[in-house]
Amino acid sequence: MDPFQTPLTYLKGAGQTRAEVLKKELGIATFEDLLRHFPFRYIDRTKFYKVKDINPDLPYVQVLARVISKQIVGEKHTKRLVVQTRDDTGTLELVWFKGINWIDKTIVPGTVYVVFGKAGSFNGQAQMAHPEMEIYSPANMQRQGNATLQPVYNSTEKLKQFQLDSKGIQKLTATLLGLHAKDIKENLPLYIIQHFKLLGRADAYRNIHFPADANLLNEALHRLKFEELFLLQLKLLRNKMLHTQKFKGNVFGTVGHYFNDFYHHKLPFQLTTPQKRVLKEIRQDTQRGVQMNRLLQGDVGSGKTVVALMAMLIAVDNGFQTCIMAPTEILASQHYQTISSLVGDGFIEVALLTGSTKQKDRRVLHQKLESGEMKILIGTHALIEDKVQFKNLGFVVIDEQHRFGVEQRARLWRKNVVPPHILVMTATPIPRTLAMTLYGDLDVSVIDELPAGRKPIQTLHFFDNQRLRVFGFMKKEIALGRQIYIVYPLIKESEKLDLKNLEEGIEIISREFPLPEYKISIVHGKLKPADKEFEMQRFIKGQTQIMVATTVIEVGVNVPNASVMIIENAERFGLSQLHQLRGRVGRGAEQSYCILMSSHKLSHDGKIRLDTMVKTNNGFEISEIDLQLRGPGNLDGTQQSGVLDLKVANLATDQELLFKARKTVEQIFAKDPQLALPENQVLHHAFETKNAGLSWDKIS
Ligand code: ADP
Ligand code: MG
Repeated sequence: MDPFQTPLTYLKGAGQTRAEVLKKELGIATFEDLLRHFPFRYIDRTKFYKVKDINPDLPYVQVLARVISKQIVGEKHTKRLVVQTRDDTGTLELVWFKGINWIDKTIVPGTVYVVFGKAGSFNGQAQMAHPEMEIYSPANMQRQGNATLQPVYNSTEKLKQFQLDSKGIQKLTATLLGLHAKDIKENLPLYIIQHFKLLGRADAYRNIHFPADANLLNEALHRLKFEELFLLQLKLLRNKMLHTQKFKGNVFGTVGHYFNDFYHHKLPFQLTTPQKRVLKEIRQDTQRGVQMNRLLQGDVGSGKTVVALMAMLIAVDNGFQTCIMAPTEILASQHYQTISSLVGDGFIEVALLTGSTKQKDRRVLHQKLESGEMKILIGTHALIEDKVQFKNLGFVVIDEQHRFGVEQRARLWRKNVVPPHILVMTATPIPRTLAMTLYGDLDVSVIDELPAGRKPIQTLHFFDNQRLRVFGFMKKEIALGRQIYIVYPLIKESEKLDLKNLEEGIEIISREFPLPEYKISIVHGKLKPADKEFEMQRFIKGQTQIMVATTVIEVGVNVPNASVMIIENAERFGLSQLHQLRGRVGRGAEQSYCILMSSHKLSHDGKIRLDTMVKTNNGFEISEIDLQLRGPGNLDGTQQSGVLDLKVANLATDQELLFKARKTVEQIFAKDPQLALPENQVLHHAFETKNAGLSWDKIS
């Protein structure tokens, strides 16, 4: 058995009770768990502050102070232990609200302590709540050896009752490392360690807990981050490889007349360079006899649908049927219209299947799908119902990734003996580092350039008191025949408030833009679907000039004539949401505008968000900034993903390291797909144990 899976009770000093509390409070159950409970900070043991120099702006500090007096004051829930201390520069008051009796016993007036904690101040008096205390003695200091950096661990109030504060955890960890550091096995191949000049694994663990100096701490961190990213990529790329071996794919050997006719006679424009590149990538994928799983990322309007259509035509050229699945009926029918108008009359039949397709039409459609006559089907999840049977489905496009689950994707695969090739399109660009981890087992294509001649959307930021100017601008645009969206935030926690905002907004707008000259559509989450649809349709048909909405329009609707997007309380939206909303305009030939309204009160991040929107239209750039602001766990669509449980590495700040790790893994698999070479043996072990907190599939 791996010594690191040993339950913590077996560690000297842990004991049954403390082991149980550690498990309950922090999920620490084994030697490995404790080893991987990393310090979140280090204190410089050599640095002592003078009392007069400490203030609430400092992080945790160490002070040498003599205890003058101690006293328990207050009653019941106001009861607290107050200890007065002093050094040669001033007095410092220490306070405890919990564990009072126990702490009271340990504190001896007249004695000098090393006091460690976060300084506060109360009525101008320097104060520390719940500091850690250690009796000062030169010998004590000596014993810390040359370790100048002391680890600080996360703990909880409950753990502190069992003397498992940071210090207590530190002691346990020291014991564990003292006894078992020699058992920490290397899990990276030697040649990689040498190539990247990495610290050995045992050394890394020793130094992340008890760094000999700042340099070694950095090296330990570097090593552990690399290991984490490397092993994750190893797992993802290996899954991808296994998938490739398991699922044979249809071979699209030829490019025939459907594609060529379309390309040479129907496509009304030149493809952009990224569009051509993506087509080439799909072309390569679909010729190798292996099922394609490709993610296509690109901003709204970057031309993904056209690329998807052309790939579908290649499938048809090779005798296969194809379909596009969209998350909503509106989106599905828009795809249907776009594609119908691109292919034109009499070229190829295209059908639409949604929940509202009539039974009679459905029967005809089912029949044509079963016979293989119908080649291009567009629809909602209605098309993965079991009743819908294809003769030979070869290529599937899924629009808008994170609205469909993995299970739904799997159902599409099962529509054919040989699973169809799958292209997932998303208009929510995500940073490369995230794509590599979140979709690390898919191939990723990117369209990062808009078609030429498109006028970039102009984004402006106005404060609420400049509203009159905005109204004036709106009237001018409406006079030019354009349509306008006004969007209000809808955030669940304060739904009432949001609704009030929306209602007030509508009132002001209705007054400013009165009937009969102006007509307004109103769409929000409280409307019945039919009413919502009715209001949307009025706007789509141009019967209303203004659409006031909550974020329900975020995904979907294409109204090329709408050229202005006004976002109210823009500071309350996330970056990617703002970017998605902005993507609703700029679809026609006219110059489009996005106007961000906000109050003067902006948080630091809020200001960065709005400035970013004004500065750039590039979704990839925006997603990178979003990642820096919010961290990987909070980006849209990442929450459910366990892939992001990284412990040491950070996708926002460790990009270079991730790229290195990924490339290294790719090189290893290119040379040794089975990890059979002697120098790669050590990686087998990584798959067989629950190494580095990742659970592995057994290597076959
Ligand atoms: P997406 O699916 O990425 O939102 P679409 O494929 O729907 O983008 O394209 C948006 C619009 O741009 C469509 O009207 C399409 O015909 C047009 N378009 C696509 N590619 C090009 C191109 N290379 N040059 C000019 N217009 C293009
Ligand atoms: Mg689209």
